[in-house]
Amino acid sequence: MALHREIGPMPDSIIFADTGDELPATLRHLDWLESEIGRQTNGQIAVHRVSAGRRLSDDIRARAEGRLKPRQDGRPGRFVAAPFFTANGGQGRRQCTREFKIEPLTKKQRELLGYKARQRIPAGSCEVWIGISTDEVVRAGAAFDRWIVNRFPLLEERMSRTDCAAWLRQNGYPIPPKSACVFCPYRCDSEWRWLKENDPDAWKEAIEIDRMIRATPGMRHAEYLHASRRPLEDVDLSTAEERGQGWLLECDGGCGL
Ligand code: SF4
Repeated sequence: MALHREIGPMPDSIIFADTGDELPATLRHLDWLESEIGRQTNGQIAVHRVSAGRRLSDDIRARAEGRLKPRQDGRPGRFVAAPFFTANGGQGRRQCTREFKIEPLTKKQRELLGYKARQRIPAGSCEVWIGISTDEVVRAGAAFDRWIVNRFPLLEERMSRTDCAAWLRQNGYPIPPKSACVFCPYRCDSEWRWLKENDPDAWKEAIEIDRMIRATPGMRHAEYLHASRRPLEDVDLSTAEERGQGWLLECDGGCGL
């Protein structure tokens, strides 16, 4: 929409934080987006891909297999929690968003502004656009750092996901797949079903992670990817029922931007 001069000013940079566990379809869309932006702007706007330097799934596997390196004081190795559903009716903490999305994004923003780590940046130095639509308005919030001002252009335009898809179609662009980790538990049944029917490798990986988190050493309660707290492979995904949560609870690290 910025390239079409429908929102402005033109951004200086576009940053995508990759947890290392995105769906191949998302990465293919990002490749397309990057080349399209390059073509339309003659390379004037850089698209950066950043990461935490490791895959989130590696952390999950290391924890499940008891391979976390113990800390110096003898306590169990540090683990970045993901919001898996627990057998006691709860849900794990969502540390993954901060460590695998927000921190790599913030680090790149700091670097692009020309500041070193821990160097003071004047308040409001960086305007960050986040593509939250009206269906997920509850996710829109202030930035953690004073030097960042979050802006939500789709909310300003009162655009829902359906409006976004309509705009893309009108302009001859493809509709992007949802950006999320293969095993992200913030999926409703129709989204799990999509994964099962459209990406067998990703579905296999989600099943593997789901089995793995059931018997994690040191965990008081078994964990599940599906909100029903049943093994993902046993869940009947044939209904179109939406659970009223799904992506309203999704990762708020700006996935897909
Ligand atoms: S997509 Fe889901 S699992 Fe991945 S970082 Fe975001 S909340 Fe965590």
